Parts: sequence; C-alpha cells; structure tokens
Amino acid sequence: MATTYQPVGVCIYCGERRYAEDSKRRLAEEHVIPFGLNGDLMLPEASCRKCERITGRIESVVLRGTLLASRSILGLQSRNSKDKVLPLYHGNRRVMVNVDDYPAMLVMPRGPTPPVLSGVHIDKAAGDIWCRFFRRDTELLLRKYGLDRFSPPPFPADVFRRGMAKIAHSFLMAELGMGKFRPLLNLAILNQIDRHDIFYYLGGSMEILDEDPECLHWITWEEVQHNESRHFLVKFRLFANVAESPVHLALAGQALEGVVYPEPVTKKVLNAENVKVFPRGAKFGPFSETTIKLWGQRV
Ligand SMILES: [Zn+2]
Repeated sequence: MATTYQPVGVCIYCGERRYAEDSKRRLAEEHVIPFGLNGDLMLPEASCRKCERITGRIESVVLRGTLLASRSILGLQSRNSKDKVLPLYHGNRRVMVNVDDYPAMLVMPRGPTPPVLSGVHIDKAAGDIWCRFFRRDTELLLRKYGLDRFSPPPFPADVFRRGMAKIAHSFLMAELGMGKFRPLLNLAILNQIDRHDIFYYLGGSMEILDEDPECLHWITWEEVQHNESRHFLVKFRLFANVAESPVHLALAGQALEGVVYPEPVTKKVLNAENVKVFPRGAKFGPFSETTIKLWGQRV
C-alpha cells in the first residue's frame, strides 16, 4: 500500500534545513525504495540538493545501468526514456546494445549476516552475487551485433551496497523519525567514510524464499542487541515476486535512552493485483546455452 510519511523538514542524510542556499524550495521528497523500482513509500521534505545529487548518482548507476533491462521486462516505471542502449564487451571492444536486445539480468548482492553482528571476519563474510536471467538471446546478439561471446560491465558492488544502505536508512528515518535514533549508515551513503566500512553493516539472510504473490517488495525493521545496547536492523526483500530473490539486512541505527519506540510494521510495496509472479524454474524468453562469459561464469 502506498504510504506517505510525515514531512521531515531536515535532510535525513546531512541535517541541512534548506534545500540549497540559493533556493527557496522545500527539501526534496525521498522514495524509501526508488521510484524506478515502483517504490511507493514517500518521505516528504527529506533531502537537500547536495545529498539528492549524491543519492541520485547511486540510483542512476544501479537503475539505468545494471538493472535497466530487467526493469524494462518487468514493466517498472521510468522517468527517463532516453537511456535505451547499454554496453557489452567483447575483449576490449565495447558494443552498444539496444535495451530490448540486452541480456536482462536481475542481479543483486547476496550476503550472510552483517559482519558487525556476526563477528565473522570481513574476508570470510564476503558475499556473492545473486542473478536471475529474464532474457538471454545469444543468436540475436551474434546476428545483429556480431557478438559471439561477451561480458557485461563490471558489477558495481560498492554502489549497490550504498543503495541498499540508503533504503535501510531512509526507512528507519520514516518509521522512527529524525533525531529518534543514532544513524549508522548516512556517512557511508554520502561516501564520506572508507568504502569498505559499509560492508560491516550490510548483509542478508541466506534463506531461499519462494516468490511472494502479494507484493513487489517488502521492508520491515526489528530491534537487536549489539554491544549491549539496542539497535535497529532493517530487513527487506526487493523483487519478492521473483522466486529466490535475496533478503537484505542492514544495521541502520542505535536506540537512544529515553525514547519510546513503536511496534515494527512490515510495509509492502504494490498490492497483489499489480504484481507479476516469477516462480522457481520458470523460463523467460529465448534461451540458448552457447558458451558466454558472464561475470566470469560459463553459463
Ligand atoms: Zn543533505
């Protein structure tokens, strides 16, 4: 169900009260889950222009790059109709491919419990990538673009992680309120700390879930104990309508003394009537098992 939260009136990332020095407009609205993923949880007056540009770049890399072809297949909304080609690589040669012909891969990081909670050393906790093909037409790529083998651009894992952090941080701000907890992820979202630090706070559950016919995405939060104090763990699943899509976890905040917190509520994005379901093992579009290299794997 679409939800519009109370306006914040302060930038949830940096604390600025004005949109910009030279502007009289209100702070910008934030989508907890991006607009380009049909996110309908809105947080009004929540971002200054400077932070909006930074988070906009994260969304641009993820939504208009890696996930563009999948978004197109899934029929998700878009503000931008221009980006209709994406690169594939054949050795050092770059070939621009129309998005309708592009291998459509739904790809996301998948990880174990955030290292900060599990205590597992960061190298051992390194997550992998979850990937689901919606379309991979190798004959077409050979015929139309001369690609007998190809690789996509490198997976921008750091940018994805910051995008995941942005979802968790803005959700906790929306649910609990600015100033009601100590945020743990805002500096990482703004890229103001070492990019590896964010790794400690993010992860996932390794459980493998079936498709959820009731929603496109869901998100919730819960209290956990960490270092003998109360913390907030945000848990969410993007593309819950696709079987086996991963569950993400982010330790997004620390509780403050004397604040009474509400009961957690799970928010679902889009109701059942609007959700296409992709069960386990279903085939989408023409497949061919010609040898192609994708993220180093022979498929
Ligand atoms: Zn800001």
